[in-house]
Amino acid sequence: MNADLHSHSNKSDGLLAPADLVRRAYANGVELFALTDHDEISGIAEAQAEARVCGLRCVSGVEISVSWRGDHTIHLLGFDFDASDRALIDGLAGVRAGRDERARRMGAELDKAGIRGVYEGAQKYVSNPALISRLHFARYIAEAGHARDVKSVFDHWLAKGKPGYVSHVWAELNQAVGWICNAGGIAVMAHPGRYRVSRAEMRELTAEFMAAGGEGIEVLSSSHTQGQAREVLRLAREFKLLASCGSDFHGPGESWIDLGKMPPLPDDLTPVWTRFKVQSSNSLQPSSALNLES
Ligand code: AMP
Ligand code: MN
Ligand code: MN
Ligand code: MN
Repeated sequence: MNADLHSHSNKSDGLLAPADLVRRAYANGVELFALTDHDEISGIAEAQAEARVCGLRCVSGVEISVSWRGDHTIHLLGFDFDASDRALIDGLAGVRAGRDERARRMGAELDKAGIRGVYEGAQKYVSNPALISRLHFARYIAEAGHARDVKSVFDHWLAKGKPGYVSHVWAELNQAVGWICNAGGIAVMAHPGRYRVSRAEMRELTAEFMAAGGEGIEVLSSSHTQGQAREVLRLAREFKLLASCGSDFHGPGESWIDLGKMPPLPDDLTPVWTRFKVQSSNSLQPSSALNLES
């Protein structure tokens, strides 16, 4: 199964519209797809409509920003939930609401550090006004010539401890897992290898996540180094978590890996999609099959 369960459209900080992303996934051989925009589910309807046209299986998805033990930011993926669930919709609106204020504070800090007008400049890259991310800042800062590329913008300006980083309070872990589970979905910890926590803290985080109702872990993420990938695999096995896999694709030429180009999951793990409600393609095939018989 070629599953790609982590990607971003221009409803958050990706470059492509949801339908274009789905067409690219299909062209790349993806068989099971999820759009997982940051704190935002407004692209799902468009993605699923295009997926029906292509005959590609597409489950609902989201990537929720969570604060854990002070200033650790953790990303949770949610899959196969009811996208019309009121508590989920309202919860995500609350998470998004803080983003513009945070972006203004980032702009002010960067002003002080000598790069002026970044908040205003970043707006050119924002396609959903409710969703400004550090990546929009990074695209502008790189374009303005303050760094070589987006990655070095993060390394020099936007990562934790750098001049443009401001701490921010996102959703609580319990709360975010609850929104996903109560909407009938499955909660998965995104790219765990990237969190700057000790091995002991990682196990505590995993235990808390599972106690809240979380069931899965992103074993394969293009953003993991080989060492991180090994650690995450060990964690998945130890805690018997469902395994997920995603490119975290943001746009052509910008991401670590293209849609659908991840290696397969190790055989001993249970893929998260074995638990998805929709087991077959949500294509229009049933009606064409009917036509053949008549
Ligand atoms: P935010 O949710 O506003 O903090 O933005 C986080 C986003 O920034 C991530 O989803 C990535 O798209 C991007 N990002 C974070 N760190 C890096 C990095 N080191 N290199 C490239 N992009 C990054
Ligand atoms: Mn992103
Ligand atoms: Mn993430
Ligand atoms: Mn992501």
